Amino acid sequence: MTATIIDGKAVAQAIRNEVKAEIAQLRAKGLVPGLATVIVGKRPDSVSYVTSKRQTCEELGIASIGHELPETVSQEDLLALVRQLGEDPKVHGILVQLPLPKHINEEVILSAVPIDKDVDGFHPVNVGKLGMKGRQPLFAPCTPSGVVELLDRVGAQISGSRAVVLGRSNIVGMPAALLLLGRDATVTICHSKTQNLAEVTRQADILVAAIGRAKFVTADMVKPGAYVIDVGVNGVPVLNPDGTPAISEKTGKPKTKLVGDVDFDAVKEIAAAITPVPGGVGPMTIAMLMQNTVKAFRIQAGVK
Ligand code: NAP
Repeated sequence: MTATIIDGKAVAQAIRNEVKAEIAQLRAKGLVPGLATVIVGKRPDSVSYVTSKRQTCEELGIASIGHELPETVSQEDLLALVRQLGEDPKVHGILVQLPLPKHINEEVILSAVPIDKDVDGFHPVNVGKLGMKGRQPLFAPCTPSGVVELLDRVGAQISGSRAVVLGRSNIVGMPAALLLLGRDATVTICHSKTQNLAEVTRQADILVAAIGRAKFVTADMVKPGAYVIDVGVNGVPVLNPDGTPAISEKTGKPKTKLVGDVDFDAVKEIAAAITPVPGGVGPMTIAMLMQNTVKAFRIQAGVK
């Protein structure tokens, strides 16, 4: 069997087009959804994520309100900003880019985002509702929502399936598992202390890998016919044919490329469907954020 390669870029683009059309209709009535982004410090990965999020807002017609704070900002000042954004009627979604510096209590800050502006789905109330039977959070975290969206678009049967999630982070693994549970999958969550991991993963009809270890999931860990969603993003050195590290002529530094947590080339031979890295889950995160922002606008403006 050769797997269907799930084109996350195309799915994300389709969602972005849907959101753009929706915003054009709102704008025609003089209604403008707004997303505030808050970044503390200058971590290159965080700067790059926030820049992409802001660019996408502009492309889609969402007003982007950016706040850049120094690494040394006090928790009090950050909290004051989040509260001020919470009261600003032009701001419908608030995104505080994580991770925050160590001197700031993440939970305190995330709890200050009003739940109806919590487009990242990290407010404890939204997280709690995600984990409760019969309750619906207003927003679910974007990357795990993207995982489920991809499974739906590729026609995976989630209800009644056995799903195994590798990783239990608050941002990806845990909410992905809860979303799948909410869709009636039988879910197992694995982490660094899990014993006999391959035995567990081989039972998965749906396997979600979110551990941050390059090509960790090998073909012998995957059930033939499984749906494999690879959330991992890992930079690895590019090698020359003789096995030595390739050096970039431009920068003089070793070349790197991105790979997932799954050994894509081997696993695609046995899976029913698989996401590539890059171009799988990655583009979905921003698309889901944009979708959540329009939803936040509709909730606050009372517009159906
Ligand atoms: P994280 O916070 O570092 O969590 C990693 C999880 O993997 C932990 O639960 C850890 O277990 C588990 N783990 C680590 N080594 C393991 C092993 N050998 N066997 C089983 N479990 C193991 O990472 P994260 O933030 O969830 O991110 C995971 C990956 O997804 C990263 O590559 C990240 O770059 C990527 N990511 C992608 C997107 C996107 O595409 N949009 C968004 C977010 C993250 P313990 O809990 O026991 O430590």
